[in-house]
Amino acid sequence: MRRVSVFGATGSIGQNTLDLIKRAPDAYQVVALSGAGNITQLAQDAQDLNAEIALTARDDLYDDLKSALAGTGIEVAAGQVALNDAACRPADWVMSAIIGAAGLQPGLLALQNGADLALANKESMVTAGRLMRETAQNAGRKILPVDSEHSAVFQALLGEDLSAVERVIITASGGAFLGWPIEKLADVTPQQAATHPNWDMGTRITIDSASMFNKALEVIEAKEFFDFRPSQIEVLIHPQSMIHALVGFTDGALMAHIGPPDMRHAIGFALHYPNRAPLPVERLDLRKIGQFTFQDPDEVRHPALRLARTVMETGGLSGAVFNAAKEIALDGFLGRQIGFLDMADVVETVMDRLLGCADINAAQTLDNVLAMDHLARQEARSVIARKPI
Ligand code: NAD
Ligand code: MG
Repeated sequence: MRRVSVFGATGSIGQNTLDLIKRAPDAYQVVALSGAGNITQLAQDAQDLNAEIALTARDDLYDDLKSALAGTGIEVAAGQVALNDAACRPADWVMSAIIGAAGLQPGLLALQNGADLALANKESMVTAGRLMRETAQNAGRKILPVDSEHSAVFQALLGEDLSAVERVIITASGGAFLGWPIEKLADVTPQQAATHPNWDMGTRITIDSASMFNKALEVIEAKEFFDFRPSQIEVLIHPQSMIHALVGFTDGALMAHIGPPDMRHAIGFALHYPNRAPLPVERLDLRKIGQFTFQDPDEVRHPALRLARTVMETGGLSGAVFNAAKEIALDGFLGRQIGFLDMADVVETVMDRLLGCADINAAQTLDNVLAMDHLARQEARSVIARKPI
C-alpha cells in the first residue's frame, strides 16, 4: 500500500484527490489529511479513509475536530507547527493543495522527508521555485505538477530533449469577464468574479482567473518548474479550456495536450506517474465540440501578465513579493476595500517599492522567502489602507 497525505484535503483539489483515492481504497494508506475551516468535511473524510491523523490549520477549531473524531482512534492536531510535523511523517506521495504561500513549508518538509510531491500549490514555485527544486534534488524526490497547464507541458515533454524546446504556450480561459468592456470591470463584485465559465475551483483561484493573476502565477510557475527562459513562454486565450498547454519544438512541431476541464486528470497523472491508469474523466467528442478558438491576452486589461514578466526578469525573492501582494490585494477585493482593477495597482505599487531593495537578490532560503513575504504583505496592507475608493 502506498502511504499518501493530502494537505488542503477539504478544498477543490483536495476533494478531487480524495475522489480518486476513495475509488481504490486498498491501494492507499492515508497518513495525514489537512483542512482549515470545514471541520465536518475533514472529519468525514478522515473516517472514510481511516487516516492516521486529521489536522486543521486553525488552532481555534481544534476542539471541534477533536469532538468530531472522538472514539475513532484518529489522531487530531491543529495549527501550523502541527501541519509541519505531519508533513514530516513518512509518506510515498503527498498532495500539496493548500491555497496560498501557506502551502510552501509543508511541501518542502514532505520532500525532505522522502515523499514525492504532487504540487497543486503553484505559490510554492512562484515564491521559492529554486528552493523547491534544490530540495527535491537533494532528497532524490520528484515534484509532479498538478496545475493543468504544467501537467500538460510535463506530459508533452516526456521522452523529449529539453534543448529542442523552442516555446511553450500556456492557455487561459479568459475567466468570468472575457469580452466585457474594461469600463465595466471597475465595479464588478467578488460574487461575479468568483464564477468560472469552465472550471469548478476554489473561490480565490477563480477570482485570480478573472483578473489573470492566476495565469501570471502560472507563467512564473512554468519558468521555475521547467527552467524555461521568460521569452519562451507565451499566453494564449482559449475560451473552451480544453487545450491546456502546447510545447513547440525546434523542428516546428507543436504538441498540444487536450482534455476536459477536470482536475482529476492532472491529479491522477501525478498519482500514478510514471504509469498511466484509467481515470474517471469525460472522453472528449471533438465532433461535438466543433471548434477551438484562440486570441491574444490584453495586457492593458490585465497588467498581471506584464508584472509576471518583471518578476521573471528580476528573479531572487521577487516572486515572494508578487505573490504576497497579490494575496493581500485579493483579500482587499473580497473584503470590498478595493475594486477589481485596484488589485493590479496594489501589486504593482508594492513591487515598485520592494523590487529595488537590496534584499531582493538574497539567497532563496526559507527564512528569506518568509521574511520577504511578510514585508510584502505589510506593504500591501498599507497601500490598501491609503487607497481612495
Ligand atoms: P480551495 O480554496 O478550494 O482549498 C484550499 C485548501 O487549503 C482547503 O483545504 C483549506 O482548508 C486549506 N487552507 C486554506 N487556508 C489555509 C492555511 N492558511 N493553512 C493551511 N491550509 C489552508 O483551493 P483550491 O482551488 O483547491 O486550490 C488549492 C491550490 O491548488 C492553490 O494553490 C491553487 O492555485 C491550486 N490549483 C487549483 C486548481 C483548481 O482547479 N481548484 C487548479 C490548479 C491549481
Ligand atoms: Mg492552471
